Amino acid sequence: MAARRLWFDVGWLFAMGAELGSGRRAYCTSQAFAEVLRLPSKQLTKLVFPLQELERHFVPGSRPDLHLKIFNPSLDDIARAESVFTASSRNRIEYLSSAVRLDHAPDLRRPEVCFIGRSNVGKSSLIKALFSLAPEVEVRVSKNPGHTKKMNFFKVGKYFTLVDMPGYGYRAPEDFVDMVETYLKERKNLMRTFLLVDSVVGIQKTDNIAIEMCEEFALPYVMVLTKIDKSSKGHLLKQVLQIQKFVDTKTQGCFPQLFPVSAVTYSGIHLLRCFIANITGNLETNGFQFS
Ligand code: GDP
Repeated sequence: MAARRLWFDVGWLFAMGAELGSGRRAYCTSQAFAEVLRLPSKQLTKLVFPLQELERHFVPGSRPDLHLKIFNPSLDDIARAESVFTASSRNRIEYLSSAVRLDHAPDLRRPEVCFIGRSNVGKSSLIKALFSLAPEVEVRVSKNPGHTKKMNFFKVGKYFTLVDMPGYGYRAPEDFVDMVETYLKERKNLMRTFLLVDSVVGIQKTDNIAIEMCEEFALPYVMVLTKIDKSSKGHLLKQVLQIQKFVDTKTQGCFPQLFPVSAVTYSGIHLLRCFIANITGNLETNGFQFS
């Protein structure tokens, strides 16, 4: 336990180190976010609002619409959302169970969100980053693609349940489509599906299977672009604009605003937490509650 705690502290410090520069320490959540708030505005924007930061690099006059301001919480809203994701004796955040079939899934009344994506898209790393304020939660991050063969359920206090779905594509479980399709179609408390796309390579053929499922079942879903630290600014901008165009022209149920994230630098993680807190009905931001 102590070792894990230490690992978490080191991991978190490492992440914060990347964000804050060496020599500045973050001991706990609120202090960590207080540190974020003290960043110079350019660095803060890059960390908390990565899409806005990209906007600065548009060719003057081109101004493509990234729908930046649809979900546009204040820093105060984002700080409040952090508490939803912070484990404490009164806010237990924990792994609940795994299931290979929907009828094995826990019967829960709480709102639910699920994360789906190709194997190796960075799903476990993202979930781990989202849960970094709950160091006891163990999310396996595999060196080998395709390790998540089951639906894994995590309870976030009294607020909501987060479901880590099996990765599709390479080495996906044979019954992936049955398992995921049934879940997506029938899970009554599913509030939002987060569909992960690797920002380095953009939307791949296999991603279309998941996109088509969400569209066919008229599910509200959100596109999350992973690993944004891996590309040059130019490459990332190109991918973001392509994916944005796809969302605008080819989808009905996809939330128009993209969520770029990095599990390494934590860029976009705070905003995504805030969005999840909002759509699960646990946080009103700027008077808006997206449901
Ligand atoms: P999963 O199969 O979708 O759960 O993917 P993982 O979370 O296991 O990540 C697959 C690989 O991508 C691992 O080597 C991770 O270290 C790496 N990875 C995941 N997220 C990021 C990220 O945000 N930035 C970078 N640079 N690498 C990442």
